[in-house]
Amino acid sequence: MLRSSNPLLAGVEPYDPKYLPADVMVSANEMTFDVPAAVRAAVVDRLADLAFNRYPDPLANELRDSIAQWYGLARDNVICGNGGDELLFNLALAWGGAGNSLINVPPTFSVYAANAHLTGTTVVDVPRRTDFTLDEDAIVERASKGDVGTVIITSPNNPTGDLASREFVERLLNATDALVLLDEAYIEFAPEGSSCLPLLAKHENLVILHTFSKAFRLAGVRLGYLLCSPRVASELTKVRQPYSVDAVSQAIALEVVKNRAAFAEGIQMVKAERERLAAGLAELPGVTVYPSFANFLCVRFDRDAGKLWQDLYDRGILVRDFSANPATRNCLRISVGTPEENDKVLNAIKELANV
Ligand SMILES: *Cc1c(COP(=O)(O)O)cnc(C)c1O
Repeated sequence: MLRSSNPLLAGVEPYDPKYLPADVMVSANEMTFDVPAAVRAAVVDRLADLAFNRYPDPLANELRDSIAQWYGLARDNVICGNGGDELLFNLALAWGGAGNSLINVPPTFSVYAANAHLTGTTVVDVPRRTDFTLDEDAIVERASKGDVGTVIITSPNNPTGDLASREFVERLLNATDALVLLDEAYIEFAPEGSSCLPLLAKHENLVILHTFSKAFRLAGVRLGYLLCSPRVASELTKVRQPYSVDAVSQAIALEVVKNRAAFAEGIQMVKAERERLAAGLAELPGVTVYPSFANFLCVRFDRDAGKLWQDLYDRGILVRDFSANPATRNCLRISVGTPEENDKVLNAIKELANV
């Protein structure tokens, strides 16, 4: 016998990354290669002295300081979490809940709407146009009605790859006192100067999310952080799990921040390969490649992309299938891999286009 769980759980599908083993794993926007060997060695050194028997610093203050220094901010502008995903949930707890609403801009990261649902927050969709550009006027107009708790803008957006302009984000910030969450999980792959970080000094309602999972190759470690005003940070300390950022993750991230220059080459490689892969795919008939500023491409096919997904998987290539969602009909999301992996992807899609 078991009593019913929270009615909000009725009909909820657990998050499924659709992970399947494959030769070429280009489905989850991870980096194909691990952290540089010298950084790994420094991490191992640091872990050798770590006290496993003691609780970690709950707020990861040493890591907050090093991230703050990186961006020219102060400790109380930084909050660390167990991956960006935990911080997204904490924001839903702190600024959502029954009677609150979230402006969501689909197609985008599915976690936002899932968190809203779990916290009883009303989701107000302001969809992207069919070419995936933001309907900026509609978002500003809806946010300015004054009844919205949170607006989430993803830049670069997942799965579409586009950037929000700083002008638009500033206009939005000026139009509302809602929390404006700018999810910049992929910002390191965008051109220099694309981040909305410079707006933080003037706007208490801006929160920027970054993660170590993508450009910094730590998807398995689980560390993300928010850059925000001290008031936002202090509200978040009320809802967070005290020890969610474990001591091992804190130690690893400290080394990565210290050695962040060692990651620039991998980021450059991905940016160059992204353009090469995009150009190669765009040459094929019946293929639309959307402009991307992230480490993946959103690609639309003029045929059944679900079938193409299966054909690619049968050749050992795992990409992410977005074709079930009407807004991304016949779209696949393909992470940028190493040059060899990208060649395999290109050749396989070329061959399949001829059958
Ligand atoms: C990957 C991703 C995140 C955060 O991922 P974590 O691994 O939990 O840090 C956040 N937002 C978007 C849009 C992402 O794609």
